[in-house]
Amino acid sequence: MTRRLTVLGCTGSIGRSTLEVVRHQPDRLAVHGLAAYGNQPDELLRQVEEFQPVRLAVVAQDAAGRLRSQLPASVELLVGEEGVLELASDAAAHRLVAAVVGIAGLPAVHAALDVGLDVALANKESLVVAGGLLRSVAERSGAQVLPIDSEHAGLHQALMGHRVDDVRRLVLTASGGPFRARPVEQWDTITPAEALAHPTWKMGDKISIDSATLMNKGLEIIEAVHLFGLPIERIDVVVHPQSKIHALVEFRDGAWIAQMAPNDMVYPIQYALSLPQRWENSFPRLQPEELGRLEFEAVDEERFPAIGLARAAFEAGESAPAVLNAANEVAVRAFLSGRLAFVGIIGLVREVLERHQPRPLAGLEDALEWDRWARGQAEALLT
Ligand code: MG
Repeated sequence: MTRRLTVLGCTGSIGRSTLEVVRHQPDRLAVHGLAAYGNQPDELLRQVEEFQPVRLAVVAQDAAGRLRSQLPASVELLVGEEGVLELASDAAAHRLVAAVVGIAGLPAVHAALDVGLDVALANKESLVVAGGLLRSVAERSGAQVLPIDSEHAGLHQALMGHRVDDVRRLVLTASGGPFRARPVEQWDTITPAEALAHPTWKMGDKISIDSATLMNKGLEIIEAVHLFGLPIERIDVVVHPQSKIHALVEFRDGAWIAQMAPNDMVYPIQYALSLPQRWENSFPRLQPEELGRLEFEAVDEERFPAIGLARAAFEAGESAPAVLNAANEVAVRAFLSGRLAFVGIIGLVREVLERHQPRPLAGLEDALEWDRWARGQAEALLT
């Protein structure tokens, strides 16, 4: 059976890698819907021509204007945030790929899970902000959240066939980012171009900066709690500069299972799309004899305080992770636009968290409200 996908964030890095997987699996995968948050009508028209979706959603009004006159009549155009939500809750698709960056993806992920659509999730921020809420929505509808994030896809594979009770801890690997070995005295001069130059992965801007501060790993720890149901103190991080091993599981008897794959997102994406099967493909293979040395070292949490900050926000609970995420999104954007120094990113997140008293999240609206509150606080601190 061909599995029909809706891809949210189709022009971003994970969206394009998802379409690359579809291109390699023409008998198994097809595109039902595409949604784009940015304004790249030419790229969208190319994707529509190649993948022939039934429905297309665009958030940007100006992109919609141009598309309307050029789209084939067979494609229904949906516009604005509501258009994306309508597409996300269209259960004519078999699986939704949430490849949107940041909080922008949360309402759509919520909508898809609510109608019982399985979600292949790259949008880790939605789990960080409202993981408890999304879990209860999924439980009620019977939908599954399938991880695309490489570490979590790795854990999903290493845990397959095992009981969570038998797990001692989960370990996410971190490349360490571009500043792992740069002396802290030289961090004042870090430019966006340097921070975007990730040593082992080709990714979008937001996650590249999160990888340079290691906030990405802090968010991923929270993501792992929600995906696998282990307490946060049993989720650790180890630096592994080669990014070939993505995650490790230590079991109660002292045995470990590590998951290894080439550092290209097509592997975890195909895994999340093929589950519970495994599919042949023609992607480049990993050759163990060519790997040479694989290294591991502890994270220096003094140089990279983001991990401790994320753990503290999770432990504070309720609205605190939403505030952590929102402040971080504002800080990353401010750094990329030259309004904030690299060393100021985590400082700004900490300051916003210090101003916050955690409050319960009764529903999606509460999560979005605390997100807006934190953005306002972060903007005020920036000016
Ligand atoms: Mg990851």
